Amino acid sequence: MTSLATLPDARGHFGPYGGMFVPETLMSALEDLTAEYQRAKADPEFQSELAGLLRDFAGRPTPLYFAERLTAELGGAKIYLKREDLLHTGAHKINNALGQILLARRMGKQRIIAETGAGQHGVATATVAARFGCECIIYMGAVDMERQALNVARMRFLGAKVVAVTAGQATLKEAINEAMRDWVTNVRTTHYILGSALGSHPYPMMVRDFHRVIGVEARRQILEREERLPDLLVACVGGGSNAIGLFHPFLDDAGVRMIGVEAGGEGIRTGKHAARFQGGRLGVLQGTKTFVLTNEDGQIELTHSVSAGLDYAAIGPEHSFLRDSGRIDYEYATDEEALAAFRSLAELEGIIPALETAHAIAHVIKVGPQMRDNEIIVVSCSGRGDKDVSQAAAHFGL
Ligand SMILES: *Cc1c(COP(=O)(O)O)cnc(C)c1O
Repeated sequence: MTSLATLPDARGHFGPYGGMFVPETLMSALEDLTAEYQRAKADPEFQSELAGLLRDFAGRPTPLYFAERLTAELGGAKIYLKREDLLHTGAHKINNALGQILLARRMGKQRIIAETGAGQHGVATATVAARFGCECIIYMGAVDMERQALNVARMRFLGAKVVAVTAGQATLKEAINEAMRDWVTNVRTTHYILGSALGSHPYPMMVRDFHRVIGVEARRQILEREERLPDLLVACVGGGSNAIGLFHPFLDDAGVRMIGVEAGGEGIRTGKHAARFQGGRLGVLQGTKTFVLTNEDGQIELTHSVSAGLDYAAIGPEHSFLRDSGRIDYEYATDEEALAAFRSLAELEGIIPALETAHAIAHVIKVGPQMRDNEIIVVSCSGRGDKDVSQAAAHFGL
């Protein structure tokens, strides 16, 4: 069997997915970025500077933590959490933001822009921009600004300008549109730090590579701890960056099953969800060809999730490819299931997860009890829930 881990090809294709669907004005910037990334990847100085920042600034390696009480409660497989929630700024996003700010510096670009949904990527970007003294503009949907007010304040303290986007649904998709518009106008001076394994080539590949450290560490840690590989990996999937970061280093390990968990919102039948593999179609959105939630005319559907970070109509192209290939399965968790998992992890383990992460935990709660007690699950604990506490408190009337 040829490895699934060698893609994309030189033009960013993962089988029929991916590619570069952007305005002409961005083509040369994306080609420059691809070339610079390839040079950086092969440059030991770049790699050692990034490794140093990941260690001393971000806090890597993150622990692989045995969730003893959750495991006992579920009575099935042993559950380990890969603790990305312990990273500086509170989620995996900093891995990619650090990689990209170093690239921006290599390209001599001092102006940084980004989009953000839940605000975690905006905070990570504002953080690295402050660390390197760059100007920083974050585009964020007005609806998301309201539900993630804590992160808006954090970005402002970090010196970023947060621009409210009121178009359309006023969530992540519109924020990306606005960031792309800015980039087209200011491409000579500006680097766009895209926040997930999405968009035009080289982003899905590059963002994945910057997050592979999650899976590389987890693989080493579980081998040290259990002297064998896990049976199952679980991660939530918005654009798909924390999931592909955990999964990718295990793709060639045939005995390791993998499940990506999408946002089931209020249920698939209500239409109020963001589960692209439940009713999505092949489409092109914001630079890439992939599964997109559209109506029969190809118009983008409205999406819904309790979690702003999963509330997006498209999924990263590599996930579409890996799903077609049968290597990774995709399930979903509803808002209710995620909120219940949010409480369970807090009460059983003393860890308040992000609502995004709670979707992965919700799936573990479903499948853990069906597995044997000598089996092992590693779940990506992609972020911490501080940003979601007021939303959850309102929901539960606490
Ligand atoms: C942004 C975010 C996600 C979703 O993004 P992916 O690119 O799919 O990983 C998941 N969890 C947390 C904590 C996030 O901040």
